[in-house]
Amino acid sequence: INSDAEIVSQLDWDKTGGLIPAIVQNHLTGKVLMLGYMDQAALDKTLSSKQVTFYSRSKQRLWTKGESSGNTLNLVAIDKDCDNDSLLVQVLPNGPTCHKGTESCWADGNAHSFIDNLSTLIRERKGQDASSSYTAQLFERGTKRIAQKVGEEGLETALAAATNDKAELIDEASDLIYHLLVLLEDQQLSMQDINLNLMKRHNQTK
Ligand code: AMP
Ligand code: ZN
Ligand code: ZN
Ligand code: ZN
Repeated sequence: INSDAEIVSQLDWDKTGGLIPAIVQNHLTGKVLMLGYMDQAALDKTLSSKQVTFYSRSKQRLWTKGESSGNTLNLVAIDKDCDNDSLLVQVLPNGPTCHKGTESCWADGNAHSFIDNLSTLIRERKGQDASSSYTAQLFERGTKRIAQKVGEEGLETALAAATNDKAELIDEASDLIYHLLVLLEDQQLSMQDINLNLMKRHNQTK
């Protein structure tokens, strides 16, 4: 990992005409949120204020993302690429990043993992007609039933491992994770809360 000072001095400002493309990524989910350009002043301001700031080519001035909408990007980490001509900016976003109101400027295709997509699908099933899907039916049967399924699938997962049945283990672990996602959603929680907690623990122990 490069220090901030190393990044600033090593960037190839000449090659890029003084404007470096900066890819903004959600630090927790890995989702790509937007692309902006930074000149040296924008990068300096980003590093000193910890609020992601670009050089806006349309406004022709420094632009701190969220300056009017309030949807700012809190800087977590910044790094240059292999040949010093682009930046990856890891952030914790304050609200939707796209000015059209969506989390990301790209409609689809940049979810970090399929589990993310599955969580979204499960959330959409909540409150739908129970005859329409197994997930909707689980939500209708309620917390006790969902919790019971998590218990069952946990036991089945453990048994599959104990009997050394790899194919069965994949199936049961899939059942377990799916039902766990349903349980979290039932409790108004999500995989993001778990990610956050795991990262908090990780940062405490290192
Ligand atoms: P904001 O920086 O969120 O206060 O938005 C101010 C203006 O910047 C908006 O009206 C848009 O013109 C533009 N803008 C905001 N977010 C984006 C984005 N993710 N990509 C491109 N332009 C944006
Ligand atoms: Zn490059
Ligand atoms: Zn956008
Ligand atoms: Zn099972």
